[in-house]
Amino acid sequence: MKIIDGKKISAEVKDEIKQEIDKIISKGLRPPHLTAVLVGDDPASWAYVKNKERTSKKLGFTSSLLHFNKDITEKELLEVVNSLNHDKTVDGYIVQLPLPAHIDEQKIIMAIDPDKDVDGFHPMNLGKMLVNLPTFIPATPYGIIELINRYDIKTEGKNVLVIGRSLIVGRPLSILLSQKRRGGNATVILAHSKTRHLEQLSRQADMVITALGRPRFLKADMVKEGVVIIDAGINSVDAPDTKRGYRLIGDVDFEPVSKKASFITPVPGGVGPMTIAMLLKNTLQAYYLKKS
Ligand code: NAP
Repeated sequence: MKIIDGKKISAEVKDEIKQEIDKIISKGLRPPHLTAVLVGDDPASWAYVKNKERTSKKLGFTSSLLHFNKDITEKELLEVVNSLNHDKTVDGYIVQLPLPAHIDEQKIIMAIDPDKDVDGFHPMNLGKMLVNLPTFIPATPYGIIELINRYDIKTEGKNVLVIGRSLIVGRPLSILLSQKRRGGNATVILAHSKTRHLEQLSRQADMVITALGRPRFLKADMVKEGVVIIDAGINSVDAPDTKRGYRLIGDVDFEPVSKKASFITPVPGGVGPMTIAMLLKNTLQAYYLKKS
């Protein structure tokens, strides 16, 4: 069994990005600029955004955060989005989700300039991904494909089960894995909460990718020997023995499943660290897009 080390691979990707940015700066050009828009004070969202800010600054990006009270109206937020679309100093930006219930998320996403949509959630970018045109691929699926490729895991002709059909993880991933590309050419089944006989499907799969947000959902008796396991789940569970009082675990029952797997991602330290790296790769791409 081999552990897929997301920390190591994300460090490699970030190192490559840093080298690009060093080159840009050494030519006397301005570095790429990533902006994050955060509404409200959800602690998990704060943590994500702060992490993005810290990492992007470390690599040499210009990074800015626009933070708004949770009572901001949809109209006001649309104005923020519109001004970012016109701001020539901003190459890419993200609107941290989820947004408060009174704001229509889809309306906000639709208002983002697709050329600055480094999360890749705008329908224009999802559509480009569907037809295999260059675009911004959503960071978590992008990171999973990168892990698969950098570990040289063969997907061609393999049966892959993706559990979870969200637009952020499972659905784009199912498309990427089925496309004619390296890290693709797989036969993909996309499962969700209405899927019947999931255990039968998972026992036949050469690779299982979990993105459902249910702690230790995938058990050892649900997979076959030699399976490749990619766990995108991040679940907080009580851990009174720890300083924080909680621990993050994945959707996979790691210990027993790892005994049957040929490759497996840990949580934390697997898919998670890749997400920020790939977001920054998208931002660098947005910068070059603007320059060309
Ligand atoms: P989501 O929007 O809540 O979607 C969950 C998906 O799982 C849905 O499609 C749902 O089916 C399906 N599902 C739920 N229970 C199921 C069950 N018992 N059997 C089969 N399918 C089931 O979640 P998400 O945003 O995709 O996130 C999923 C997990 O990934 C979470 O733990 C999240 O924290 C993590 N995540 C990690 C990263 C990262 O950076 N590593 C990034 C994003 C998300 P229905 O569609 O039928 O409801």
